[in-house]
Amino acid sequence: MKLKSTEQVLIVGAGPAGLTAAALLAEAGVFATVLEAEPELPTNLRASTFHPPTLEMLDRFGVTDLLVSQGLVAPTFQFRDRSVGKLAEFDLTELADVCTRPFRLQCEQYKLNLALVDYINSKGTVDIRFGAKVTGIQQSSNSVSATLSSGERLDGQYLLGSDGAKSVVRHALGIPFEGFTWPEAFLVVSTTFPFEEKMDDLCWVNYFADPEEWFFLLRAPDFWRVMFPVDANTTESEIFDPSTIQLRLQRVFKTAAEYEVAHTTLYRVHQRVAKQYSKGRVFLAGDAAHINNPLGGMGMNGGIHDAFNLGSKLAAVMTGSAKPSVLDTYEPERRPIALEYVNEITIRNKRNLETNDLAEQKAFRAMLKEITMNPAKRRIYLLRASMLASLGVHQ
Ligand SMILES: Cc1cc2nc3c(=O)[nH]c(=O)nc-3n(C[C@H](O)[C@H](O)[C@H](O)COP(=O)(O)OP(=O)(O)OC[C@H]3O[C@@H](n4cnc5c(N)ncnc54)[C@H](O)[C@@H]3O)c2cc1C
Repeated sequence: MKLKSTEQVLIVGAGPAGLTAAALLAEAGVFATVLEAEPELPTNLRASTFHPPTLEMLDRFGVTDLLVSQGLVAPTFQFRDRSVGKLAEFDLTELADVCTRPFRLQCEQYKLNLALVDYINSKGTVDIRFGAKVTGIQQSSNSVSATLSSGERLDGQYLLGSDGAKSVVRHALGIPFEGFTWPEAFLVVSTTFPFEEKMDDLCWVNYFADPEEWFFLLRAPDFWRVMFPVDANTTESEIFDPSTIQLRLQRVFKTAAEYEVAHTTLYRVHQRVAKQYSKGRVFLAGDAAHINNPLGGMGMNGGIHDAFNLGSKLAAVMTGSAKPSVLDTYEPERRPIALEYVNEITIRNKRNLETNDLAEQKAFRAMLKEITMNPAKRRIYLLRASMLASLGVHQ
């Protein structure tokens, strides 16, 4: 595809955020080039939860039904305790009056990426280039360019850095990534073990509070995924030792049989938000702009919401239906959500599950009881947990 430099938007990174923005530009007939370092779309296991507003947003590309057909519909989620079982269950169908998809969808994020690439390719104005690693960016008052590791340079009118947590674009802009790193690492173990047949009343999304070892137990289409915190000072060979992993799983549910382990992933978790979401003609979205712990499943979802906000504005500016000044509204609309909403909820979720302070444990359990018993409080809680409140749905 031959483009004049000034006609296109450059997007660095073909993850959920970059591809969502690219889909919006493709839908509007805007020229864009997506630059992706990997030789093909990564299919590693990462996010597996889509919240109701995200599913509704993605509907316009015709991908939501496809994802629903490939995933698991989870209308409920639970907080549990190792000893007593279910502490509280929340039902998203109570929000059916304010959203069209009142459930969490458990589906691997790479399936979204594959579906978005198909949609983008069907439109014909966006070029997705794999094996295109961006090493630097430069900008002037009327254009921006990206340099690839091959030495090639591409020009555009605007550039979106959706290149993940270690964002080269954010580094090139010199924008601090403020926040902290949790002391523990997180281990995700995928297993074929049928927990749903063995544990009473389990649903597809379960958070277990425990002062000694909290964890979460989520079902993805092919496996159950159990996420445990692990001491970051433990060596990887100890963490991945098969007998240690079996012991951890046996503490989730004691069984005579050996657990079949399909995958293990270890990763560090941070709570960080970029000090700025834009500089000149360059913008940040997704993990390049904010990262958080996975308790609540808000990382990928928040990145897709960023991409919808910015992508719609870029499409409007590029097609001449809005003035460039509309782009100035992106940061004030999205950054406070990462800072005050996603950070607040995910940090509180983690503290509630891990606390070993007896008074705090009691207060958490009392709060869950109160929310479940009180319809008004339950609604506020569900609107926040589903991320609808972050998009202005408060009633
Ligand atoms: C184990 C795990 C579980 C998770 N679970 C959840 C969950 O349940 N719910 C949730 O919402 N979130 C979850 N997350 C977080 C979620 O995966 C991320 O928030 C999401 O992937 C961010 O999307 P993104 O598009 O911003 O970035 P990414 O998905 O990281 O995509 C960035 C892309 O940019 C490319 N790239 C990087 N550098 C360059 C470069 N220099 N040049 C060109 N390309 C480049 C990368 O190859 C990559 O394809 C989880 C994360 C992990 C690790």
